[in-house]
Formats: sequence, C-alpha cells, structure tokens
Amino acid sequence: MMLSIENLVVNYGNIIALKSISMQINEAEIVALIGANGAGKTTTLRTISGLLRPASGSITYNGEKIDTWPVEKIVAAGLSHVPEGRRIFPGLTVLENLKVATSTWAGRGQSIQPELEKVYRLFPKLRERTSQLGWSLSGGEQQMLAIGRAMMSRPKLLMLDEVSLGLAPNLVQDIFQTIKEINQSGLTILLIEQNANLALEYAHRVYILENGEVVMTDTAINLAKNPQIQDSYLGS
Ligand code: ATP
Repeated sequence: MMLSIENLVVNYGNIIALKSISMQINEAEIVALIGANGAGKTTTLRTISGLLRPASGSITYNGEKIDTWPVEKIVAAGLSHVPEGRRIFPGLTVLENLKVATSTWAGRGQSIQPELEKVYRLFPKLRERTSQLGWSLSGGEQQMLAIGRAMMSRPKLLMLDEVSLGLAPNLVQDIFQTIKEINQSGLTILLIEQNANLALEYAHRVYILENGEVVMTDTAINLAKNPQIQDSYLGS
C-alpha cells in the first residue's frame, strides 16, 4: 500500500470538516473522491499535502507517518498536488512555470530536460506556448500547465483537485486521457471529481464522501452497476 489514511479528523476552528475518515491507495491506482460540495474532498487532499494538520488520526506514505512533515518534505517525497482553480503563475512564461517545480531536486548538476520533454510530450500545446505568459493561456492550457508543473516535481503520487471544472467536455476527455497515460507510465493518482460519470470512467476505485465521512467505497466497475449510485450520483 502506498498511502494509508486512518481515522483522520480535521477541523476548521469548531467546524468539523472530516469526521474520522480512512482510505487506502495502492501503487499504480487511479482513485477518485466524489461527493457533494462541502463533503470534505478538498480538505482531504490539503491534509495529505501538509497544508492542513489533522486533529487526530494518521497519514502513512510508503510506511512513514507524514502528517507532521513540512510541506516541502512531503513534496520532495513524491506527493504533488494540483489545487482547484489552476493556480499557475500568471506573470511567468510556460517554461518558467514548469521550472519552478524542479526546485526540490534540480540544481545539483541534474538536467531538467528529460522531465521537460516528458511534459511536452504529454501536452504538445505547452511546447508550442513555451515562451507565452501564464495569464495569456486558455483555461484548458492553464489546466495542462498546472498538471505539467506538478509532473516537474518528479511525483510518485499525483493529486488532482477538480481538473474538469469550467472546461469544455471534449477538452475534459483529452485531459483525462492524458491523466490515464500518466498513470500507465507508473504514477499513482488521487483525484477529486464533481462529475461522477467521469470519475467512474477513469478511476479504478472510488470513495464517496458525505458530510466529512466516507459513506461508500468500491471499484468503479461495481459502483457503475449499483442502482443506488445510479440514482444518487449519475443522474439516471
Ligand atoms: P467543494 O467541492 O465545494 O470544494 P469539498 O468536498 O472539497 O467541497 P471541503 O472544501 O473539503 O469540501 O469542505 C469541507 C467542509 O469544511 C465544508 O463544510 C466547508 O464549508 C468547510 N470548510 C472548508 N474550508 C473551510 C475554511 N477555510 N474555513 C472554515 N470551514 C471550511
């Protein structure tokens, strides 16, 4: 098992956002978190990344307890997080945005070229726009840049928060195909997705969150056949 979350409780002041959730992610899986607004999906990702601290419970990554580690140490260990809303640097070029994420490992005589080539192969649009400033990219290109930048930190576990938000359906399919390719190249993926159909199409396993609790978990194949899921989440 790559990542194990046990009885995680996270509060914002006196608001309980996560009420003792547990989940496991195996190497090479795509795992999706689905559930309504406010269910606790983003809070889960931010806590894994070290941006929030749990009140209790634990997060174990490759056998090490990481829930007290500083953010930089978590990134350096191979966990990379693409936050909701594509927070790229608008005043930096595409290439500069990508270079920023290599600071945890580059600069000791190691070339960033192989990583850069990998990202440009996954997202050919970024190669064409390498000198263009972040703000001038389309929404879809900004999302590609946000994912590409996360790839530059040499992640082992890539966490994606609602990459489909606000993008045209065909572009969303393209981006998810690329996510699948990234997974097939050996990366483990944990993603949040509002569109449950999309999550079930691409993920191997799914956790359904409701009011800060895991209410159901199963393989995507089983959930897609479950009539209760059909009614509640798939709009059929
Ligand atoms: P969304 O899809 O809307 O982002 P989510 O499932 O990711 O939903 P979270 O953002 O994790 O949900 O929020 C979980 C709970 O914590 C919600 O009740 C939310 O209102 C609350 N919450 C989130 N961020 C904060 C904050 N900074 N301060 C106080 N409460 C917060």
